[in-house]
Amino acid sequence: MSVSRCRLLTYSNCDTIPVGGGYPSKGRSKAWSVVTMGSPFICEALLQETVNGKVRCLTCERRCLLSDRQVGWCRTRQNRSGTIYTLIYGLVSSLSCNPIEKKPLHHFYPGSAALTVGSLSCNFACPWCQNYRISKAKPDGGRYMSPQEFISTAIDLGCQGTSISFNEPTLSLEWALEVFPLARQVGLYNTFVSNGYMTLAALDLLVEAGLDGINVDVKGDAKAVHRHCQANVEAVWRNCRRARELGVWVELTTLVIPGVNDDEMCLGGIAHRIMAELGPETPWHVSRYHPAYQFTAPPTPAAALERARKIGQQMGLHFVYLGNVPGHPGENTFCPNCGATLVKRGVLRLHRNDVTPDGRCPHCGQEVAGKAWHWTG
Ligand code: SF4
Repeated sequence: MSVSRCRLLTYSNCDTIPVGGGYPSKGRSKAWSVVTMGSPFICEALLQETVNGKVRCLTCERRCLLSDRQVGWCRTRQNRSGTIYTLIYGLVSSLSCNPIEKKPLHHFYPGSAALTVGSLSCNFACPWCQNYRISKAKPDGGRYMSPQEFISTAIDLGCQGTSISFNEPTLSLEWALEVFPLARQVGLYNTFVSNGYMTLAALDLLVEAGLDGINVDVKGDAKAVHRHCQANVEAVWRNCRRARELGVWVELTTLVIPGVNDDEMCLGGIAHRIMAELGPETPWHVSRYHPAYQFTAPPTPAAALERARKIGQQMGLHFVYLGNVPGHPGENTFCPNCGATLVKRGVLRLHRNDVTPDGRCPHCGQEVAGKAWHWTG
């Protein structure tokens, strides 16, 4: 990738934060007075390059090429006189302390709580969006929250980690890169719940800054993702592979939507790619859709989700979970070797965790992939 002008913010880009950003600098620093432009939400975007008088945003794979004053596809970034600025730095639309099971991340710090934050807008077009009130909202308004305030809130609430979620977290790249090192400093983990459409440069920076776990929403096969999300699913698979290679704990989710991605060919294709590209131990959540935004089809029948789970299991995946079906046994973890129930969950919460401290089945010794099965603190 050729980046002729990549700006890493050595200094914090918020006037309430002391100088001294938490991740390595490879570029020049900018004074806060220059980058704020009168609003705490506006700061210079990190990844951008100049192309023939325009500026290309390199945050996500849309790679929008912006003329002066033009706003990107996601509406969160704008070219102002030859420099792209994010318009949502620290803009918080939603904040809540959630069980990690709600992300969902089932093999990652089970039973822990993550302070979860969302901003506004999205870089995907999904017409069924379950969070459309914030993902389709124009990115203005909202409450400003500095990285420090976010971390101190997480500590005050007794959380074990952070999660950037609700809308697409990639759009909060600059803020996340300041949150993650601060979280690590105080022993918190960091997670994303994402469509996985960031550029490799953005992903690498996130991992370098302290991304520990990610749930990536694989929304369908190439045709469905192109048609409904206006995106290229290959970039999503590439990022899943990359995150895994870099040591990030990766789980995948597919919201199973009648008529969009519920056929055997599509679900089998996703399961096959998980097996081939990420490995059988990668958890896959097949989750129930509810009518929202522009989609009015009734909710996914539980039988369709059970069929999806079976497709994944027959493909060889060890851990296929049902989502959004409270109380279904498909929320539990079973030993892939002896079939014993290892983790019991209910209504997005941990009920019992029998995985041994070294990550094995207590009955047969089978290794159970995951991160921090038994955390302390
Ligand atoms: S983050 Fe927004 S402006 Fe940047 S490339 Fe993606 S959609 Fe375009």
